Amino acid sequence: MRKKVVVIGGNSAGMAAASRAKRLSPDLDITVIEASRFISYGICGVPYFVSGLVDRQDELVNFTPETLKKQRGIRARTGVKAHEILPGRRRVVCRDLSSGEKLDFEYDQLVIATGYRPTLPPIQGVDLQNVFTVSLLEHGAQMRRALDSGECQRAAIVGGGYVGLLMADALRSRGIEVYLFEQGRQLLPQIDEDMAELLKVELEKNGIQVHLNTRVAEFRGEKGTLQGICTGSELVPCDLALIDVGSAPNTELAVKSGLAIGQSGAIQADSNGLTSLHNVFAAGNCAETTNLVSGEPAFSLLATSAARQGRVVGENLAGMRSTYPGTLETSVEKVFGLGVGRTGLTYRQALENRFDADVVSIEGFDRAPYYPGGAKMHVKLVFGKPTGRLLGAQIVGSEAACKRIDTLAVALSCQLTLDEISQLDLAYSPPVGTLWDPIQIAANVGLRKL
Ligand SMILES: Cc1cc2nc3c(=O)[nH]c(=O)nc-3n(C[C@H](O)[C@H](O)[C@H](O)COP(=O)(O)OP(=O)(O)OC[C@H]3O[C@@H](n4cnc5c(N)ncnc54)[C@H](O)[C@@H]3O)c2cc1C
Repeated sequence: MRKKVVVIGGNSAGMAAASRAKRLSPDLDITVIEASRFISYGICGVPYFVSGLVDRQDELVNFTPETLKKQRGIRARTGVKAHEILPGRRRVVCRDLSSGEKLDFEYDQLVIATGYRPTLPPIQGVDLQNVFTVSLLEHGAQMRRALDSGECQRAAIVGGGYVGLLMADALRSRGIEVYLFEQGRQLLPQIDEDMAELLKVELEKNGIQVHLNTRVAEFRGEKGTLQGICTGSELVPCDLALIDVGSAPNTELAVKSGLAIGQSGAIQADSNGLTSLHNVFAAGNCAETTNLVSGEPAFSLLATSAARQGRVVGENLAGMRSTYPGTLETSVEKVFGLGVGRTGLTYRQALENRFDADVVSIEGFDRAPYYPGGAKMHVKLVFGKPTGRLLGAQIVGSEAACKRIDTLAVALSCQLTLDEISQLDLAYSPPVGTLWDPIQIAANVGLRKL
């Protein structure tokens, strides 16, 4: 009999697990169960679909259930939600969301790849029409419809995380007046405050009205439709709002089914992806992993980590013993004309994790200063004392400049010191860089500090 694999969640992690397992072990009988209408979709492309840069929603979809079956031999059921795992009977109890029909899938091995869910603030009006979160392709389509109808002219972004910033850019590019409210004292908590300030300046330069230290108290509506948002002191009229106040691992199914939850709040999983239940794996944003710098339990909210975790689980479904080492949380994003990259720990996180840490920030150029089109870039390195071992890095600069964060991610993976970074054999030519790359200049300044 062919071994039955059921994968719950059909995006980055779930699809990577299913595809890798099938490639290594073509005999596996794999079914992907997905609650939404789509599988294998690029949620990361939603801001560009909302802005109109990407014309059609189907450009963000890599596979349909039909093409997945034909090209990869994997079955997918969309519009089907898993409600409970019955480990004793090795079954997943599901419901077809359109017909209401109860379905039941038998498994020999199971993968939970249910992703993340956006947090909703506990305030009135989050359910009003035109108040959005973005975690599914459908949300992007709903937002695009609202914008295409011409009924939206003013938008409020509640929360200054990376999705909020991307959406601010997308909405502004459509000529929408955009207000951004963040209750904390900086945007983008994944980077240090001085670097986040550069982003705030860029947003304001592009017409976004940024309000830090401002808590939204209520979404105000009339007849179910959004009219404005209330901060403690004022009512700001708006006809569209996007909430990005945080995200958490989607553990609803796991909790209901009695799986152990780890310290980070994600599903407990070992480096092979195995959970507390026999033959049940977890991968992606719902699964716990380790922060490679601090060594602490962590979860990642990135597609990159989700896909790699999924791939490892796929190999283990096929009988290998692959391990996922953990995450550095390396990320990059572009907001208007500025890119921001980060990897490892911020200075604040390094101190919170009790590292004896120091930090260096420099301003350099992304190409030879005399070469046309160059721009300034900011590099920040966080390092341990007295060793000079790199603990984290952040770059703010042009799109091309911030992709240099990958070099620092490799340095971090290899546990390099500032001395070793200073001696890396990096490439140089005036149109693309400087003789001393800014990350090496930063390492040299850090060495002087040490
Ligand atoms: C606007 C935006 C831009 C982003 N940009 C980037 C980027 O540039 N780079 C990057 O690395 N990351 C980015 N991300 C984050 C990235 O999209 C996520 O980290 C990634 O999608 C996580 O993959 P996953 O497979 O773990 O979970 P998900 O993509 O969340 O997939 C989980 C799937 O499981 C399904 N599901 C959940 N519960 C059930 C159930 N009970 N039954 C059946 N199905 C279920 C859901 O419908 C969903 O399709 C972005 C996110 C957003 C919102």
